[in-house]
Amino acid sequence: MIRHVNIPVFIPHLGCPNQCVFCNQRTITGTSKFCADDVRDIIEDALNTIEEGTEVEIAIFGGSFTGIDFDLMCRLLEIAYSYILAGRVSSIRCSTRPDYIDGHILSTLKKYGVKVIELGLQSTSDKVLTLTKRAHSFEAEERACKMIVEAGFELVGQMMIGLPGSTLELEEETARFIASVRAKGARIYPTVVFRNTELCDMTENGSYVPLSLDDAILRSARALKIFKDAGIPVIRIGLCASDNLSAPDTYFAGPNHSALGELVENEFYYELIKEKIEKADVIGPQSVTVFGSRGSLSKMIGQKRKNKLRLIDDFPLISFSFAESADVEEYDVRLQYEERK
Ligand code: SF4
Repeated sequence: MIRHVNIPVFIPHLGCPNQCVFCNQRTITGTSKFCADDVRDIIEDALNTIEEGTEVEIAIFGGSFTGIDFDLMCRLLEIAYSYILAGRVSSIRCSTRPDYIDGHILSTLKKYGVKVIELGLQSTSDKVLTLTKRAHSFEAEERACKMIVEAGFELVGQMMIGLPGSTLELEEETARFIASVRAKGARIYPTVVFRNTELCDMTENGSYVPLSLDDAILRSARALKIFKDAGIPVIRIGLCASDNLSAPDTYFAGPNHSALGELVENEFYYELIKEKIEKADVIGPQSVTVFGSRGSLSKMIGQKRKNKLRLIDDFPLISFSFAESADVEEYDVRLQYEERK
């Protein structure tokens, strides 16, 4: 199997006139200074550590790339594209906002070999978008997604969990929307409160209550289920460790766990197993072996056996065992029942 590596190039809040309440972009990207000429060094340094034969992608993240000064955007794209022309990099992806997409932007991105556009949608609820001060509407999201897909780019939808005014149902709607626009991938970010943001002030004055870790896990798992059912890969759940989540001068409140993605996947498996047993309408004492795909054993059982203990609690007449099987697809389970005497 060919290895795939991303070279992340972080563009901080350059030229972004918006002030989304959750955003402290300089904090999130871990860099407060940016110089276009450094980009070549970043790429060269990364390429020097990558084995030959690896599929390499330059990923321009942070800020709203297509909203920065147009000439600077082209300069950065030119640098990235020169690596594609030299055969050292196979593709480019960038992230941006729905209202920074138009025909001219898309044709420019195409000219410089951009393949994937990640769109920060965050929510499809106009109420949540307003409370979050995103300064764009759901209509802008619909329009941008349609244009991106029709122009032949791969679309990745980014959504947030637990924004001001949001609910589990609104987040499920957002996930369903991303699935409906033929996205090729999704990212799920439970809302974390960073210092020096409006959300931090809102948390301090009580107008915003951050999600507990358990709620963030449950709500993210519901979004994950929608993406899995639609066959859409979820490429990230939660911010990275490099996002300064452990620095007390950066992190203020909200769901913060170094293994958040894993905990969400565990929850996904718990709900899936529970749903399948409920549908099977098991009567009387049974032994159930839960088969999952290769590498899924710890996710099925859960951290500190949490899933197993909850299942025993939910179904006291059933005894559970877990195993991996090559016949089971990723993110699915097969149950084998045996009557207990
Ligand atoms: S548009 Fe992006 S960079 Fe600008 S304030 Fe919002 S989240 Fe931050």
